[in-house]
Amino acid sequence: MLHKKVALITGSTSGIGLGIARGFAAAGCDIVLNRFGNPDDIAALRANLADEFVIKVDYDGADMSRADEIEAMIKRTHANLGGLDILVNNAGIQHVAPVDEFPLDKWNAIIAINLSAAFHTIRAALPLMKTKRWGRIINVASAHALVASPYKSAYVAAKHGVAGLTKTVALEVAEQGITVNAICPGYVLTPLVAQQIPDTAKARGISEDEVKRTVLLAAQPTRQFVTVEQVAALSLFLAGEDAASITGAIIPIEGGWTAQ
Ligand code: NAD
Repeated sequence: MLHKKVALITGSTSGIGLGIARGFAAAGCDIVLNRFGNPDDIAALRANLADEFVIKVDYDGADMSRADEIEAMIKRTHANLGGLDILVNNAGIQHVAPVDEFPLDKWNAIIAINLSAAFHTIRAALPLMKTKRWGRIINVASAHALVASPYKSAYVAAKHGVAGLTKTVALEVAEQGITVNAICPGYVLTPLVAQQIPDTAKARGISEDEVKRTVLLAAQPTRQFVTVEQVAALSLFLAGEDAASITGAIIPIEGGWTAQ
């Protein structure tokens, strides 16, 4: 049923976003990849996905901190692929520091990329979905949309904001065949997590191994990292017809973290 739908996944050249893009490609969607990577790697990624799944793969390097580039990306998607059916707001960055030492530029960038970008993409994409009276918006939030951790003030604030945005938009479009949900992963071992381990070690004065054991996985009762494939499978389910009555939901996939 997802065959030939158009799915745009922000921040999809690595980590969770790439996993979700692969999932939608495997389901027969035409996909739009977004963001960093050297041009040769991106060209190879596009060619591989297009060949493997016999789909169209477009790419737009829009910076999610820029409203104008986001708007242009949605327009371009419409022009190149004929619409936008599934929007996955996945791009995100992190910075770890005590709040009274938190660099202003990092705060602004995290709020822009992790929260405001979803407002801009949704604002530009909804008219296209309303025309078809069908759409799926999936916001990749975090367990940090539900609970806090020290030293992550901007990230936790942004992700809680994504939860509020998700619920609000879900109510606004509930009668138009469009669902809006947030997925809240616990720790997934992607570049974003790997990169914050040294900073957390520094902030807490402990080793990097101790950060993995006593900080990251300490929060997850399963003591297992969530996998990219599990997050992709949940995204696919939310995009399907069986999930048509799930909207405005903030869905944990975090090994029991927020049950505590
Ligand atoms: P990642 O660093 O592998 O991927 C982040 C993606 O965002 C990359 O593709 C990167 O290029 C992109 N990005 C960064 N800045 C951008 C910008 N200005 N414009 C466009 N794209 C930009 O990290 P990830 O772990 O795969 O994270 C993906 C999402 O999942 C994020 O929103 C993150 O907050 C969320 N998340 C991750 C975890 C985890 O444990 N890894 C847990 C919960 C939530």
